[in-house]
Amino acid sequence: MNSLIELRNISKVYQSGKERIVALQQESFRLKENDFLGIVGPSGAGKSTFLHILGGLEIPTQGEVLYKNKNIYALKDSHICQWRNRKVGFVFQFYHLLEELTVQENVSLPSFLLCKDRKTAFKKSQSLLQYLDILDKKDCFPSELSGGQKQKVAIARALINEPEMILCDEPTGNLDESSARKIMDLLSLLNKEKGKTIVIVTHNHEIAKEAKTVFFMKGGRIIRQSNQ
Ligand code: ADP
Repeated sequence: MNSLIELRNISKVYQSGKERIVALQQESFRLKENDFLGIVGPSGAGKSTFLHILGGLEIPTQGEVLYKNKNIYALKDSHICQWRNRKVGFVFQFYHLLEELTVQENVSLPSFLLCKDRKTAFKKSQSLLQYLDILDKKDCFPSELSGGQKQKVAIARALINEPEMILCDEPTGNLDESSARKIMDLLSLLNKEKGKTIVIVTHNHEIAKEAKTVFFMKGGRIIRQSNQ
């Protein structure tokens, strides 16, 4: 299968006061189209840094991120933003929904920002909310939803611009076991049914078992990889 995105010799160094923190050490990795990758490892291993660099959120200190052979970090900032809005959907542990917007408005927002067409954005969000079986909550505010429902809304928002990749940082970290299972089933379905390439950062090895490929990180390095 074709590689969708490739990290070549990526390092990330943070400077915190006088301390130099090496979050990623010269890592290389190829993510294939329609892969489902799990990244596990202890806190501070560099998992989120890896995910953010993959998604165009964090400039690496060294190395290249090639999306279909184009180095995304060589693009102008505004073009990196555009690339991210079209190609990547993010799902975070704490949902990051806007509390003053309804479910439908939250989901529609990335589409509206891209196409400036409110009607199209609302239409797309309705069909996604229906697909995720949460259309009855479209006029609710996030404060009126359970954690599992909020994460479904965040997933709908991540999907609205039809990205190729969905990058998830501890997507079930704040959910009870049954809601976590439903979210993982949903991500598997999106991988199988809609062909989305999915990357999940988690410290939970059970959750990682859902992935097709898993790698283990420690000290800013990929120390082990398995295909399951
Ligand atoms: P993980 O996701 O595995 O918990 P992170 O990628 O968040 O690990 O962090 C890796 C290392 O980089 C940690 O030591 C963390 O403290 C450090 N780090 C992450 N972000 C920053 C930042 N913005 N400034 C300084 N250090 C950071």
